[in-house]
Amino acid sequence: MKKDTQCVQVGFTPDNGDPRVLPLYQSTTYYYETPEQLAHLFDVPKDGHIYSRISNPTVSALEEKITALEGGVGAMACSSGVSAETLATLTLCTSGDNFLSCAEVYGGTFNLFNITLRKLGIECRFFAPDASEEEISNLIDDKTKFIFAETLANPAMTVVDFDKLSAVCKKFGIVFMVDNTLATPCLVRPFEYGVNIVIHSSTKYLDGHAQAVGGIIVDGGNFNYDQNPRYKDFYTPDESYHGTVYVKEGGAAAYILKARMQYMRDIGAIMSPFNAYVTNLGMETLHLRMKRHSENGLAVAKALSAHKMAEWVKYAGLSTDSNYNTAKKYFNGGFSGMVTFGVKGGKSNAVQFIKNLKLFKQVTHIADVRSCVLHPASTTHRQLSDKELIACGISDNLVRLSCGIEDTEDVVADVINALDKLKA
Ligand code: PLP
Repeated sequence: MKKDTQCVQVGFTPDNGDPRVLPLYQSTTYYYETPEQLAHLFDVPKDGHIYSRISNPTVSALEEKITALEGGVGAMACSSGVSAETLATLTLCTSGDNFLSCAEVYGGTFNLFNITLRKLGIECRFFAPDASEEEISNLIDDKTKFIFAETLANPAMTVVDFDKLSAVCKKFGIVFMVDNTLATPCLVRPFEYGVNIVIHSSTKYLDGHAQAVGGIIVDGGNFNYDQNPRYKDFYTPDESYHGTVYVKEGGAAAYILKARMQYMRDIGAIMSPFNAYVTNLGMETLHLRMKRHSENGLAVAKALSAHKMAEWVKYAGLSTDSNYNTAKKYFNGGFSGMVTFGVKGGKSNAVQFIKNLKLFKQVTHIADVRSCVLHPASTTHRQLSDKELIACGISDNLVRLSCGIEDTEDVVADVINALDKLKA
């Protein structure tokens, strides 16, 4: 199946007389006739559902769809994007370990990595997006478990150089993890560029209607954990799960099996069946929406570039953008609906611009069908120091636009009218 067909079809295939549409299995529990049958599932959890903290048929259908779209071997849906990041990290790191992350990441991710995980004894070492292979390699030691970056950084809009980071990961035998939230598999498939684990905040484009908070971890099945001394937990028996050896039990999907059986089991940040149902519904039109989001994003970026009140514009699809050549290498079919720009006149004009908008509504969100806007420095990223804001690529006058799927002329007109009203 092509990607557009996968969006619509994968995850649920009815048997004779079944509902045609994926049912919402709003059940915590699953009935089995004999203790032996249930005991078998505790040994081989892949063979069926035990309890909805571990898995659920509606949630599994969504996991199957995103696995197919990303081209992986398995996925685990979580209660939010940040819980997906937390569980993805814990599956690889314990106290005393470290990992590397590009500094230009979503503010909540930066906080999780820089503060919360550090308190748990897991150290994040940040690098600049333009750091060389050598500079990045210098941060690695034998306790380094993975390298993290966002395909398209929120809100810096920098495109990750997959080739550079993948080369470093391969050199050291380290996992490469990417947050593909803003690109989605409709535009970029990170596993094709050496990535091993993909994360999503499904709250964004995957749901696409601003109705369900969620996160997903996808396992590319393309990393060999067996006998790699960095990942001993993968090839030695897990005493907390009656001696399971994940590389043996899970094969290519060892990572996602370990994530579910250790950390979903113990922490329980699972996506609810209802949110999986809603997210699946959203994903049925993901391919169509990403095309329109991208058309609107490009049109707005071009209009901004020609406006005297826009100091600078960042959109990877603009041929003048510093990310254009990298983006062209990896993106296929558009560059998303996310545009950031600097308003001339500093923070006060950025704030006034937001007040002048009519169609774009100010919400703490991005990537849904309705156009929306935010001033990150005073909202999502306000917990960061001035130095951290610069590291994340955020200035005082930066405005983040998330172009929805409304008519292109209406979307552009709203932005231009709001800029026209500003005093130089
Ligand atoms: N990753 C990116 C790129 C995001 O933009 C966000 C949230 O905005 C997250 C992760 C966190 O996701 P969630 O809000 O679903 O926890």
